[in-house]
Amino acid sequence: MVIIVGLLIVFVVILIWQPWKRRDCRWRQDARKLADGRVLFTCAACGAEIALPKGREPTHCLAGEQ
Ligand SMILES: [Zn+2]
Repeated sequence: MVIIVGLLIVFVVILIWQPWKRRDCRWRQDARKLADGRVLFTCAACGAEIALPKGREPTHCLAGEQ
């Protein structure tokens, strides 16, 4: 019985925490340049895309935000 309750708690914690949405992004600079001079970055982990001004790099993961 204790084992079953323990497994349930772990299951609920995983559902709430959702670790698969907290992967760190691995940003790769995309070869495509945008028309306005910004550079496109693509995440190899979650597929997120973000365009930033030249010289800047994305710092946080966008997984789950799109
Ligand atoms: Zn990502």
